[in-house]
Amino acid sequence: MIPPFKIKSVEPIRLLPKSERIKRIKRAGYNIFKLRASSIFIDLLTDSGTGAMSQEQWSAMMKGDESYAGSESFFRFEKAVKEVLGFPFVVPCHQGRGAERVFDRVMIKAGQAVPGNTHFDTTKAHIEYRKGKAVDCTISEAFDPETDHPFKGNVDLKKLEFSLKNDDVAYVLLTCTCNSIGGQPVSMANIKAVSRLARKYKKPLFMDGARFAENAFFIKKREKGYEKKSVKTIVKEMTSHFDGMLMSAKKDAIVNIGGFIAVRDKGLYEKLSQMAILFEGFPTYGGLSGRDMEAIAQGLYEGIDEDYLEYRTSQVKYLAEKLELFGIPVLKPVGGHAVYVNGKEFFDHIPQWQFPSQTLAVELYVEGGIRAVEIGTLLAGRDPETGENIYPELDLLRLTIPRRVYTKEHLDYVAECLKKVWERRESVKGLKLIHEPKVLRHFQARFERAEDVNFEKKLRKK
Ligand SMILES: *Cc1c(COP(=O)(O)O)cnc(C)c1O
Repeated sequence: MIPPFKIKSVEPIRLLPKSERIKRIKRAGYNIFKLRASSIFIDLLTDSGTGAMSQEQWSAMMKGDESYAGSESFFRFEKAVKEVLGFPFVVPCHQGRGAERVFDRVMIKAGQAVPGNTHFDTTKAHIEYRKGKAVDCTISEAFDPETDHPFKGNVDLKKLEFSLKNDDVAYVLLTCTCNSIGGQPVSMANIKAVSRLARKYKKPLFMDGARFAENAFFIKKREKGYEKKSVKTIVKEMTSHFDGMLMSAKKDAIVNIGGFIAVRDKGLYEKLSQMAILFEGFPTYGGLSGRDMEAIAQGLYEGIDEDYLEYRTSQVKYLAEKLELFGIPVLKPVGGHAVYVNGKEFFDHIPQWQFPSQTLAVELYVEGGIRAVEIGTLLAGRDPETGENIYPELDLLRLTIPRRVYTKEHLDYVAECLKKVWERRESVKGLKLIHEPKVLRHFQARFERAEDVNFEKKLRKK
């Protein structure tokens, strides 16, 4: 796991004293989204836009052509998309959800369905914003944290065919890797089968490809017949089965902002670029500066570099294995971009209505100034009809690893801090929600420490 790079530019980080951390998290209403970044020592909130750019990316930015129309940087970006992904037409967008907005405006009519594996939250929100319906056809193994399936992102073909037969389908969407279920990859065999099925029903197939390179690397590592193929070849084989792809470049293109829609069909490209003018910008910049497009172009090549991918995935695996060694329950198998700790099992004395994974996020901050994010009951929100909390099967804490940012020493420290929380887990109390916005409550919610878990637990049981 030796990093295939050395460090040229450094950003200082500082661990505040524990008394100060306790004060700040309390002031933030026990919500890690409300902490200032300067209060944090190691930030594992997300791998989105948090990567470190290379010297080649920074120097490419100096060549940014900021012309409104016909920017040279656009043509370099278009060439990279063609070479790495094989799609001839590309519409730049300011980030992934910008691409989703433009795309769904063109593709979805009210009442239509978009089946696929588990949709990412902004993706689902955009489909629903167009009065469409996101149909989750992921294999059932994906929802069992203990099952060790190599491609938990796969689509259950029977579920997909059911949707293709019974719904008015706008398009089929495959998220590679599948972020919402733990960064789990989709196999090449499944991509092929899904593509065949979509063609049979004459529906286009698109990839939500934020982590396409990590997906290709897992195919190389886990799927028979791909061990000797290069990631570059595997990526091309993957994309050959799709009509196009939506991309948040903040992930596998290793930039701080950017995204795009890449397609094969000229007619569709023309519709999309018209819509992009309305929402994102002229089709040769789409909400990005010329220098942003330069950074993405270079980042696409670096994102498929096998030394980098080996290092990145082994970093994630290293942290997960270290935690397992301490007996801490983690989601299996380890995905591409994060380690997920099973918060419900970690604090098995804290009921789900007292937010065990959110409690773990708070404790980890107090213990070591580390920020991780709850993917559980807080995030799931309430049932719009009954107003009751939704209690998801998987109640997790996500430790997301930014690209090329932290070293093994940082990860060792994260594991040691989690171990300390693990050792004192029985004395930890849950949280009580005291303020909650109606939509996307996790960003703004406020909590208090719950008083007596067992007392409330008993009340609940009666
Ligand atoms: C991040 C992400 C998006 C949204 O992209 P943004 O750049 O955050 O707007 C869409 N789909 C997947 C799979 C993602 O990971």
